Amino acid sequence: MTKAYLINPNELIRDYNEVIDEAQKKTFFTVGIELQKEEIDNLQTYIDKLSVQRKEFAEKNNGNEANLIYCFERLAMIIQSELKMLVSLKEDEMAQAWDILVDCQVHLGTVIRNYPFESDHLEHYLNRLHSYEKTLFPKMIFNSYGGFVKQSHCSICKSDYGDCDHIKGKLYNGEMCTRNITEVELEEISVVENPANKHCRVISIETNGIKKDVLTLREISTKS
Ligand SMILES: [Zn+2]
Repeated sequence: MTKAYLINPNELIRDYNEVIDEAQKKTFFTVGIELQKEEIDNLQTYIDKLSVQRKEFAEKNNGNEANLIYCFERLAMIIQSELKMLVSLKEDEMAQAWDILVDCQVHLGTVIRNYPFESDHLEHYLNRLHSYEKTLFPKMIFNSYGGFVKQSHCSICKSDYGDCDHIKGKLYNGEMCTRNITEVELEEISVVENPANKHCRVISIETNGIKKDVLTLREISTKS
């Protein structure tokens, strides 16, 4: 926690808090949809500004600064996505709302793992996202894919994953390392309650020959 920075982290945090306090006034379902859309645009301006700053530090190999800015940039994107989820719900785009929420949870998890300061408030935020999942959406059934990865590479240096020292989920000079899987031998698909990937979900149920969307319970037309 005693990293030295070329920038003053307190200033970065102050700016961030100012933007986020304003945005979080709009992250309630009751707030006007047009105001939420406006706030999504406001946040984009702030995100773009941080992105430029992050790339400048990365070019000079100031990794600590670039990584720190990445965290705030990503957090602003998560709040922006929370607003997008609320807008999607209001616009009756339920599957999209679910996918946005899942992405928020995944991204917040990675920020928490890389955040250099005390992160209790981020844990609370993760709980807030979990509450959305439990109260806004029905209990879902997920699929889990078991298989053998035949080819994957590191997003940072493009080597075969495992041949380099980069670790997925960690930040390097302002970029997140991911393991990009390009070829997999599928062995089994199983139904699970706690999946690794909540995007892999059962999307329809069929009873007495009638197929329904699990989120909306609307009949899915099979005629085409
Ligand atoms: Zn690598």
